[in-house]
Amino acid sequence: MNSPSVLTPNPLLEPLLVIAAPNPRLRVKSSPVLLVDDDCRLLMDRMLDLVRAQNALGLAAVQIGADKRVVVVNVGVGDQAPVPRFLVNPEIIRRSRQRVISEESCLSIPGYVGLIQRSNEVTVRFLDYHGRPADLQASGLLAVCIQHEIDHLDGRLFTDHLSLTQRLSRRWEEFRFRRDARQSQAGHRQKRAPVIN
Ligand SMILES: [Zn+2]
Repeated sequence: MNSPSVLTPNPLLEPLLVIAAPNPRLRVKSSPVLLVDDDCRLLMDRMLDLVRAQNALGLAAVQIGADKRVVVVNVGVGDQAPVPRFLVNPEIIRRSRQRVISEESCLSIPGYVGLIQRSNEVTVRFLDYHGRPADLQASGLLAVCIQHEIDHLDGRLFTDHLSLTQRLSRRWEEFRFRRDARQSQAGHRQKRAPVIN
């Protein structure tokens, strides 16, 4: 027979919800983790579950409302299966001058994909899942993903890297999306003028 226990609500066990832009919480710099303890590991486990469930490449704790410098990435190198990596208090200590342009998207900016230029190689210093100091040299997609997630910890979104032309184009797309949604809500009473793209 089990002894009766008092259940206390644990915020770490609440369902995880991804915060979407333009929520101002995504613009706040995350706080360093002082101790990698069981609560921190539970947070990382749950973040990895979410990354896998969403078929994403990575997640920063701020995206689920946790004010901690914690990143989870799940990227495979080459043809290899994705490898989960847990980065606590990550810091890029070296980056290559060689840049790469790749398509990026973000769980916090659903439905948008942008071409972003970043360093092709980085070395990142962090505490691992067990709180041990570690360095990781990353290149290609893994390096891009790590830079994207560390940006989140500093309140930056990948769209901040877009050129002015790309930003204007994105605003135009958003305007068209909202306008089309309004028109479809209003039914087909009005005949739409042809749009020249
Ligand atoms: Zn993101």
